[in-house]
Amino acid sequence: MTWEQRWHPLREEWVIIAAHRNHRPWVGETVDAAARQVPAYDPDCPLCPGNVRVSGQRNEPYTGVFVFDNDHPCVGPSAPVELTPPAGIYRNRPATGIARVVCYSPLHHTTLAELPVPQIRDLLVAWQQQYLDLGGRPEVAHVLCFENKGEVVGVSNPHPHCQIYATNFVFKTIEIEAAASERYWAEHRRVLFQEIIAAEQTDGRRILCEHGSAIGFVPYFARYAYETYVAPKERHASLADLADQEVWDLATVLREVLVRFDNLWQMSFPYVMALHQAPTDGGDYPGFHFHIQFHPPLRKPNLLKYLAGPEVGGGSFLSDTSPEVKAAELQAVPAVHWRVARGEGQNEGQP
Ligand SMILES: [Zn+2]
Repeated sequence: MTWEQRWHPLREEWVIIAAHRNHRPWVGETVDAAARQVPAYDPDCPLCPGNVRVSGQRNEPYTGVFVFDNDHPCVGPSAPVELTPPAGIYRNRPATGIARVVCYSPLHHTTLAELPVPQIRDLLVAWQQQYLDLGGRPEVAHVLCFENKGEVVGVSNPHPHCQIYATNFVFKTIEIEAAASERYWAEHRRVLFQEIIAAEQTDGRRILCEHGSAIGFVPYFARYAYETYVAPKERHASLADLADQEVWDLATVLREVLVRFDNLWQMSFPYVMALHQAPTDGGDYPGFHFHIQFHPPLRKPNLLKYLAGPEVGGGSFLSDTSPEVKAAELQAVPAVHWRVARGEGQNEGQP
């Protein structure tokens, strides 16, 4: 079983080979998700409160946000350090780092879109703590927080959760974004992402919501049909630097964006969500502007955006939808979750 990092000399980036994870639990293919009623508690779920995980550890009887070390890490302290040297110019190194799981709620059947703002605020605070804890470690160059939501992006367990990879390298997208931001800062003494926000506000057509210090919009250059950014308006290198009111505003905008996603087709909207935070490699990032990016894979309810020749083969995106039209669709739906509107809201209104 191979578990290491391998250098891709043509893309100049690390590839994590985690072949030891082949036996991760998958419940999706054995269950027809559409046909069953998802329960609030599932005795077989490794994420529900009080349940025993594959590692033998028992989850706390948690009531809010719950964080634990991933039982199937792709980077971890137990990754092999004695590696077979590769041939020729090839390079490898241990897949060290820390992988964690963050459960948003003890309720198995809820989603981030259906959590009240105070609970989303609590999640943002937990992410702040994780960035400070993991990013503060000398061996950690970057903290990637992300959520894969929906079976179409490979998630079989509906329990609302995200993952954190704290790695000894900076993921490629953040590396490119940080370099572009710092170059712009050096040349103009202005923050690149704030120029993006200003251009969106000047145009106005793609803004989904604004609340105080936070904004959500479909960017002008969206690569995916419903690609959406959620950001504080002021520059902060990471979520950890936001003041309490900014965290609250961000939670409010985050929730509204997620509700609009779900309302679009009255279904739980799949996406890949990633927090874009400055590297923690000791560098100085005065031009980096923390924000959250959503990459929804669907173009229509049963139509995936396939990554094919241009994207996989060429590395550049071909979008056959207009960001203005897609933003207008999201603007047109109600800001109240359709399940709440039907009286099915699970915990709406709870403090
Ligand atoms: Zn669960």
